Amino acid sequence: MQYTGLSRATVSSVLGELGERGLITERRSAAGAGMGRPAARVALDRSAGTAIAVDIGVRHVAVAVGDLSHSVLAERWVTAPRGHAAARGTRLVLRSIEEAIEQAGVDAEELVGAAVSLAAPVATDSNRLAVPGVLPGWTDSTLAESVAARWGIPVVTENDANLGALGEALARPAAGGGDILFVKVASRIGLGIARGNRVVRGRNGYAGEFGHVTVRPRGQQCWCGRRGCLELYAGGDGMLRRLAGTAAAADSIPDLVAGARASRERRRVVDDGAAALARALTDIAVVLDPARIVLGGELTGLGDLLVDPIRRELGALPFGSTVELRVSPLGERASLVGALGLVLTEPARFVDRSQGRVVPRPADDDHAPSSPPLSLPAAREAQP
Ligand SMILES: [Zn+2]
Repeated sequence: MQYTGLSRATVSSVLGELGERGLITERRSAAGAGMGRPAARVALDRSAGTAIAVDIGVRHVAVAVGDLSHSVLAERWVTAPRGHAAARGTRLVLRSIEEAIEQAGVDAEELVGAAVSLAAPVATDSNRLAVPGVLPGWTDSTLAESVAARWGIPVVTENDANLGALGEALARPAAGGGDILFVKVASRIGLGIARGNRVVRGRNGYAGEFGHVTVRPRGQQCWCGRRGCLELYAGGDGMLRRLAGTAAAADSIPDLVAGARASRERRRVVDDGAAALARALTDIAVVLDPARIVLGGELTGLGDLLVDPIRRELGALPFGSTVELRVSPLGERASLVGALGLVLTEPARFVDRSQGRVVPRPADDDHAPSSPPLSLPAAREAQP
């Protein structure tokens, strides 16, 4: 309860509502024996349904099937060529879902919905990319419609960094409240903001497009229409471009990460990017006063080269303010786990299978029940 920031009466009321709908089971904690009334532990009941999560990255598609007692039942990862076309990606996703459902032993009748994570801004009022061309090959994708049609369930599309923030917030809620920021440091730079169990999306779905804050006013032209954006320097693609044509050029982000210390030129580009990220992230921390900043994405493989400059800058916030900094323990799975979490925390957008009823609930965010703090265990099986 301390994690939710809600009063005991509010928590009891929400849990009562979930209980009436047959969505939770209660277990008494043995540890509390002899010390007054034992604490109740509640879990979402398996009968509440199962969900599908899909993560479309620049070079992979991943699928997970989980039940609403927050266990990942099956998970598949497939490598896809960079810039792969949506038609091919959609075929991979549909086949991976079929396999994951079979592996999980899930009956299609149990499914309540699917959430799709995209490494691009997603328009708040649709399942489409907010910026055409940002994920090459996926503009006007009908993935959401294909999954919805195949399994007869609502499908919601969401930005990957937003889902990363939600995954982190569910795995370890901020004690005493405060926002959790998830910074995806990969080919590009993304940022998600979780306020409690809610994602902050902004008016157009661009909230957290942190990669496009200006760090060099007269810098390179960015694809977003501005100049000198953070991700041109701190994103993996930007670093590769800056090294291209030099003796220190790297073939790929994994190559750059593995050999970041291999030459003075590589080290200079990496340090320059990390410093720019540290300064910009500190500005965000000054504005939002978050409880925790979590770093995710491929470039976290740089370790101290990335984390130390950020830790140093965040150590000098105004008024002696402090913020927790950590590298995501969920790793590459943060957005996938967050996608399952979206189905848990925004049930009004999906199907209600409680008490034998199968009716889509009206979308009314204000009356969606809050979920209790959840822990999301590691996948039982992952296919590299
Ligand atoms: Zn930009």
